[in-house]
Amino acid sequence: MKWIKVAGAREHNLKDVHVRIPRDELTVVTGLSGSGKSSLAFDTIYAEGQRKYVESLSAYARQFLGQMQKPDVDYIEGLSPAVSIEQRTAGANPRSIVATTTEIYDYLRLLFASIGKAHCYKCGKPVSSQSAEEIVEQLMQLPAGTKLMVLAPLVRGRKGEHVDVFDKIRKQGFVRLRVDGEIHEIENVPKLAKTKKHTIEAVVDRLSITADIRSRMTDSVELALGEAEGLVTALIEVGTSRRDVRPSAQLRTAGPLGERSLPEEWEERLFSEDYSCNDCGISFDKLEARHFSFNSPYGACPTCHGLGTQMIFDEDLVVPDKTVAWEKSIHPWRYGGRRAIIYYNKLLAALGHAYGIDAGTPFEELPRSFVDVLFHGSDDTEIQYYMRRRPISKPFEGVFPALNRRMEENESEAMSHWLRGYMTRRVCPECNGARLRPAVLACKMNGRNIRDIITDSVLDSQTFFQSLKLTKQEELITKEILKEIRSRLGFMVNVGLDYLTLDRESGTLSGGEAQRIRLATQIGAGLVGVVYVLDEPSIGLHQRDNDRLIHTLRGLRDLGNTVIVVEHDEQTIRTADYVIDMGPAAGRHGGEVVFAGKTDKLLTADTLTARYLRGEKMVEIPEKRTKPYKGWIELKGAEANNLKKVNARFPLGLFTCVTGVSGSGKSTLVDHTLKRAMARHFNGSKDQPGKFRDIQGLDLVDKMIVIDQSPIGRTPRSNPATYTGAFTDIRSLFATLPASKMRGYKPGRYSFNVKGGRCERCKGDGILKIEMHFLPDVYVPCEQCNEKRYNRETLEVHYKGKNIADVLDMTINEALEFFEAVPKIQRKMKTLCDVGLGYLKLGQPATTLSGGEAQRVKLSTELSKRSTGQTLYILDEPTTGLHFADVHKLLEVLERLRDEGNTVIVIEHNLDMIKRADHIVDLGPGGGVNGGRVVVSGPPEKVAKHEKSFTGQYLKECL
Ligand code: ADP
Ligand code: ADP
Ligand code: ZN
Ligand code: ZN
Repeated sequence: MKWIKVAGAREHNLKDVHVRIPRDELTVVTGLSGSGKSSLAFDTIYAEGQRKYVESLSAYARQFLGQMQKPDVDYIEGLSPAVSIEQRTAGANPRSIVATTTEIYDYLRLLFASIGKAHCYKCGKPVSSQSAEEIVEQLMQLPAGTKLMVLAPLVRGRKGEHVDVFDKIRKQGFVRLRVDGEIHEIENVPKLAKTKKHTIEAVVDRLSITADIRSRMTDSVELALGEAEGLVTALIEVGTSRRDVRPSAQLRTAGPLGERSLPEEWEERLFSEDYSCNDCGISFDKLEARHFSFNSPYGACPTCHGLGTQMIFDEDLVVPDKTVAWEKSIHPWRYGGRRAIIYYNKLLAALGHAYGIDAGTPFEELPRSFVDVLFHGSDDTEIQYYMRRRPISKPFEGVFPALNRRMEENESEAMSHWLRGYMTRRVCPECNGARLRPAVLACKMNGRNIRDIITDSVLDSQTFFQSLKLTKQEELITKEILKEIRSRLGFMVNVGLDYLTLDRESGTLSGGEAQRIRLATQIGAGLVGVVYVLDEPSIGLHQRDNDRLIHTLRGLRDLGNTVIVVEHDEQTIRTADYVIDMGPAAGRHGGEVVFAGKTDKLLTADTLTARYLRGEKMVEIPEKRTKPYKGWIELKGAEANNLKKVNARFPLGLFTCVTGVSGSGKSTLVDHTLKRAMARHFNGSKDQPGKFRDIQGLDLVDKMIVIDQSPIGRTPRSNPATYTGAFTDIRSLFATLPASKMRGYKPGRYSFNVKGGRCERCKGDGILKIEMHFLPDVYVPCEQCNEKRYNRETLEVHYKGKNIADVLDMTINEALEFFEAVPKIQRKMKTLCDVGLGYLKLGQPATTLSGGEAQRVKLSTELSKRSTGQTLYILDEPTTGLHFADVHKLLEVLERLRDEGNTVIVIEHNLDMIKRADHIVDLGPGGGVNGGRVVVSGPPEKVAKHEKSFTGQYLKECL
């Protein structure tokens, strides 16, 4: 077996780790949270793989990537280029959708460009183009002897007498022409009615098909195309022997060849040299791959530039209070300089005067016709203004046009930001959200356009592409393209994402979904010999889909890659080839490899993980469940996203888990609907909840606290100490010290946010930010304070031998002992330890905390507050990043909240958590359109008995 050998790894808490990882195998790195898993997998192995890769690039490429820091490790042997697949969502770029990140969209563009059938977007008829040669080639296929006329359509359905056209025909020397379907000699053309639409074609040639007619026919067709701007009409005599052209029209002719005058059957065919609809008179570009991109000006809807939505000023935001006198109701016109306000007041007074509207009329009582003038302008109606005492007459511009102008003309980002506060996003009225130009949308394949395909779920697309009907030639052209599309769809299904639609914006995906999409994309890329490092890919995934995920990870390995997964999921650990267990505890007490070897060996080892796997340690099932005893919060008729008029109840004062496969609607129900409805009720939040009919029981709770995984701060200035408020207490404590009193240091002296005690070089950051041109910012330590953040004088004050910087450098476990004598601080440290964060440093920058850690910092902050006993807590997968033992601790914390009478609602997949819940609301049965219902609700025992519940099936095994 070949190995990656890591020697002397010392990043963060790692204690000179020496470990081997088998190449081309699937390895799981597990252990308590904070034990050093990420420090080993990401900060050492991945970082070094990445650095080696960059070093292998040319000097030219390297200069753009900058110097990468070598991780603190003696050496790593046998490492190939590394790729990490993380959970971070792709950011909020609305141009990034599932189809683009998976590259499926690129292949769809190629597909449509090569075999899509262009149609006219107005009338829906197919459009095509043919060269003169191709037209002749088709006509030559007619049976020998067939009579044929070549016509040049000069006027097509246009009103008028068209005398000039007849003149032109005469001058060109044509003898015959067809007017509205009848053939005439040029000398005998009827006078045309001026008010009617007419079609005029010059007869260029009359032939009958023979073997040697080709060159004459070519001349005629080219002549006609030249005269009629790329169009030619062929009139073909419909004979009995002809099979290939079916008569499409009964043509009444006044003797088409001049010899016969009886009505006959002729077929008319129109050929076009360029892409155009001959009926609607619209020309099209030949559609190439770039036309199908909404990120290219060739394809993007010109109104919304390919976003599908538009920001517009919103009546309700511009006039937030409709009971106010209308003249004072335009919110954005009431702010700004005094001059501007006076100007707008005059403008509105004059407008009211002109329309006979009383000043002081509440906005809500204005006639709608006047509201339209107010918002959109008075068109041509001029208003008399007195500006600087001089009368001026001009139309009123309208509030919206004025605001739009200000939006476009101002150059200050702050101003734009302020104005955006009055805008809402609406679906683009031009493309209806389709993002593309009409001509692009009219291009179809098997009757569907590119938009139809991407609005499907992954599963439906898969079906579509499996049953696609193509001609032999099309199949040949698209073989490779289709292979790529099909395999990518297959990978997405395999990682449990079959319910996602391809046009879903990447920014709205959860971290787990985003990571699994990246995983699917990587497999699609088919790289070999790469080291992949993944962070808890099972997040957000139901047990049901875990098998498929594991199968996919093995697939990645079987391609010839080394796969390293940081994971707590039992099934993943059990099926891995190799396990590295970090420990023994967290932070300073961790950082060692307590086990490394084949998975079956782990079962006999003496580590915390092994004890849980053997079942010696386990989360117990409560002996008795608490029945709902003080009522319910009831949500009725919820129907956002995939929810199907769901009625759901959550027992007050108990611990409820909302479960279901991913995509079943858990977040939509809890986060999108319940949480927002509550937020609106309690703090008048503007976030619109998902649609629902009714909600009851709100009065039975007195506040709601949402504890999510978003960072506790976006700058290195936030940290656990500041977030929990402990730092305020610590600063006050320092200010009471004799040394502070003597020097006159107040608590502010110990803040790194204000001038006084902090290092001014780095303004209290301890690090300096260096802005790179088009790369992420780089941070370097401040050489003035040596990362201590404070100036020398401040650091001279000590409490129990430690200065303020030393305190920030302490772990929470240490601080718990250190502040023994200060109950206020100690209590906060205790709750941080209770949620398993004792290993964190007090001053660890918020930007280095994982989502799970951030969530637990928030949780502990809430715990340290005095509980009202009537609070509703909402959490989303709080077990993220937690080892069995950590989950155990977390459960105790949540149950403590419940035991004080509070209501706890948790979205969760972790079975240890679910089996301890008092109540379960299980959504499903499937994801996307196949979900969105309550499958079963009640205590775990009831859910376990339910046949249709996937959660029940797995729950049964652990009850
Ligand atoms: P795990 O992945 O096992 O949860 P980590 O490797 O993330 O653990 O963390 C191990 C220890 O290193 C923890 O005490 C953590 O707080 C600390 N740590 C992690 N990242 C940083 C960092 N960027 N700076 C300082 N300490 C860190
Ligand atoms: P869960 O939380 O159970 O994984 P979600 O509530 O996130 O499920 O999703 C339920 C359904 O709603 C899925 O089909 C999902 O694709 C869709 N959905 C969720 N969020 C959005 C969104 N922001 N825009 C469009 N569809 C969404
Ligand atoms: Zn548009
Ligand atoms: Zn400094």
